[in-house]
Amino acid sequence: MENRRQFIKNGLIFCLGTGAVVVATGRVHAFSSLDTGKWGMIIDTARCSGCQSCMVACKLQTHTVKNRFNTRITARETGTFPNTSLHFEADICRHCNPAPCVGACPTGAAFVHPTGIVLTDWQKCDGNGACIDACPYDARFHDQRFNNKTDKCDLCLDRINQGLVPACVENCSSNARIFGRLDRPEGEFAGYLSALSQSETTQSAVHVIKSGKGDSND
Ligand code: SF4
Repeated sequence: MENRRQFIKNGLIFCLGTGAVVVATGRVHAFSSLDTGKWGMIIDTARCSGCQSCMVACKLQTHTVKNRFNTRITARETGTFPNTSLHFEADICRHCNPAPCVGACPTGAAFVHPTGIVLTDWQKCDGNGACIDACPYDARFHDQRFNNKTDKCDLCLDRINQGLVPACVENCSSNARIFGRLDRPEGEFAGYLSALSQSETTQSAVHVIKSGKGDSND
């Protein structure tokens, strides 16, 4: 299998045991038995300051096509002047379970990785766009630079494999993005998860909520 990042940076390929490890130019991405655990993220928009550092970090990490982002922060104004308030909404792939995009993909390119992360195999993607139409979150888009193959957030799986958190999480100065193991939650991530219902935690790996805490020091 070959996802977008591998496809673009398809340098030297080594086959190790049961999995193929691609050593790209400056980036390593592994699909192998090294991929363990179920990963997830919670975005608490009550903490979001609207700085969009997550968007910038993601763009620098994933090099998405112009005007498309794997995660977006949008400001929304509510109320009537002068009694208005501003809040911020976050958009991102929820890594659904089951994933409508996976069900809709006629070529088998969209698939669920053992970590629970929904990926796209660019060797199989023909750019038909069925996954884009099926996604209820507008998380997928065509990449015109590569025959309209579809792109979206992969939760920075290559970074996870290196023991790092996703780029958006690392660069959020408001601690609005909380990342952790769904199968072994700890600390603040566990606290957030426990506030969700069982059905919510099983239906997707990424949750966008507004906790009301609103203070990263809580
Ligand atoms: Fe697929 Fe959209 Fe769900 Fe992501 S949010 S897994 S792209 S259906």
